[in-house]
Order: sequence, then structure tokens, then C-alpha cells
Amino acid sequence: MKNITFIGLGNMGGPMAANLLNANFSVTVFDLNKEAVASLTAVGATAADSARRAVEGADTVITMLPAAKHVESVYFDQNHGIADGLGTDTLVIDCSTIDADTARSVGNRLSQKGVGFIDAPVSGGVGGAKAGTLTFIMGGAEQDVDRARPVLSAMGKNLFHAGDLGSGQIAKICNNMLLAVLMAGTSEALQLAIHNGLDPKVMSEIMKQSSGNNWALQLYNPCPGVMDTVPSSNDYEGGFMVKLMNKDLGLAAEAAQGSGSATPMASLAQSLYKMHQNQGYAEKDFSSIFRLFDQNN
Ligand code: NAD
Repeated sequence: MKNITFIGLGNMGGPMAANLLNANFSVTVFDLNKEAVASLTAVGATAADSARRAVEGADTVITMLPAAKHVESVYFDQNHGIADGLGTDTLVIDCSTIDADTARSVGNRLSQKGVGFIDAPVSGGVGGAKAGTLTFIMGGAEQDVDRARPVLSAMGKNLFHAGDLGSGQIAKICNNMLLAVLMAGTSEALQLAIHNGLDPKVMSEIMKQSSGNNWALQLYNPCPGVMDTVPSSNDYEGGFMVKLMNKDLGLAAEAAQGSGSATPMASLAQSLYKMHQNQGYAEKDFSSIFRLFDQNN
């Protein structure tokens, strides 16, 4: 049986690690948050008291951390970094959304130690993480991607190989840039309907069956009460935080600058989500952008 180490047990990493346990992998976990660790040991994971300890004897290491600085520190921190504790036959999979340059640099530094690495950011949200239906977008060498497939299949249903190291991250930020724009646009349209006397449930159904149909309307409606199991109906808790969406829009802006691409819709979306974050919504789900368009706000 494969020994998998999972570091970063937040909104996404927690349910992803639980699905590895459901698939009968042996899973050792580490997170700075003790409650997050406890919720995984309760369903069969082994806890380690440091990241370095957690990777001892691991065949596969998965990280699911907020941003690039956390990834760099978990791998290469002078005192606690895991890089020195990895065996040469270990496969490392970073599922965090970070910039492609950092992903390439982490991968290259690990390959100097003989360790295989792929970037494999995900799409599908907390719902997809819980259901085991995530999309994984991988960047790296073919042989490492092939080694990752059986493990990632326990957490997702669509596995894409986007290209070389870092390509998974580029594809992911392009996707999230579009998601930011469409969630803001969907919120704007729903609020316009509400302000003009329409029922948001009826309006959502109309758009779902019309040319405005999109992922937010199908699976992640931003208007409270339209769908029961999404963050908007739970006071925008437990999803993809506004501050993380702003991180991703920042990554998209950097990539656009690097390639000289025009991304005016993303620039406007970034201003809207920043304004929204500054109004106290940093830790709320990104679909709370709906409130920015509320006449009574
Ligand atoms: P989160 O903040 O809920 O979880 C991050 C976890 O990492 C926390 O439990 C935190 O304690 C832990 N952590 C931070 N530093 C650590 C360290 N040094 N050592 C060990 N643990 C550490 O974030 P999340 O929503 O789970 O997102 C994780 C990543 O996935 C982000 O890069 C995000 O952009 C991406 N993502 C999130 C979603 C979503 O819907 N939430 C969807 C797709 C991708």
C-alpha cells in the first residue's frame, strides 16, 4: 500500500486527504492547525508533529497550501523544510495555486536531489473536494504525471496534463481569472433582476436554460437561498476565500504582464474583489461578491 503524506488540511486539503483514506491509502498528515489534524485522525489518518517527520517513509507527498510563500517554506525552510527528508524515489505533488515560476523553481531544486515533482492545482471547489470529483491540472514530466495518476484519481475525476513544469499553474490561473469575472457578472445580473422585482430562483433557472448559463449558476449560486449546499446559503463560509481569489487575480496580472497580454476584464474584476475584501470580506467565500452589488449594501 502506498504511504502518502498530506500537508495543508484546510477547506480543500481536509476533504482531499479524507478521500485518500476512503480509497484505502495509508495517510500521514500535518497542518499548523491542530483542529484540522484532529478531524483527519478521527477518520484514520496518522498525525505527525512536524512536516519533516510527516514525510519520513513517504512514497508520495502532497501539499495543499494557501500561497507560494507557504509552499517555499514547507519545502525549503532552513530548520523545518521537508526537502532534505525526502527519499529519491518519492513523488511530490503540489496542489496549491501558486505562480508558475515558483512551481518551476521548487521542481528544479527537488530534481537536483533526485526527487520527482509535478504542479497539480485543482478546480472544483470544496464541493468537488468532498465529492472526489476535482479536476487536476498537471505540469511536469510524463513519467511523474503517470506516477501521480492513481493517487489523484482517488480525489478527482478529470486529470489533465497541461505541459511542462509550471503549465498546470498557468492553466489554473487562466481558469480562475475567468471564474472571477463570471462570478462577478452573475452576481450583477442576479441583483439587477432582484432590484426589478424578480425572484432570484426563477431568474437563475431562466439563465441556466439560456445563453447566460455558467458554472456559478449550475453549481455555486451566489444568492443566499437559491441552492442549499453552497457557501452563499451558509453565510459565505467554508468555500474559496476572497483573499485567495485576490491572490489568484494577482498571479493572472503578473502572467499577463510577463507575456504582454491584455486582460481588461480581469483588471476590473481584481479591483472589485479588492474593494470587496477591504470591506471586511477577506475570509468569506468569493461568491459573497454578490453583496457588493446589493442596493441595500
Ligand atoms: P485554507 O486556508 O482553507 O487551507 C490552507 C491550510 O494550510 C490551512 O489549514 C493552514 O493551516 C495550512 N498551512 C498554512 N501554512 C502551513 C505550514 N507552513 N505547514 C502546514 N500547514 C500549513 O485554503 P484552501 O481553500 O484549502 O486552499 C488551498 C489552496 O487551494 C490555495 O492555493 C487555493 O488557492 C487553492 N484552491 C482553493 C479552492 C477552494 O475552493 N477553497 C479551490 C481550488 C483551489
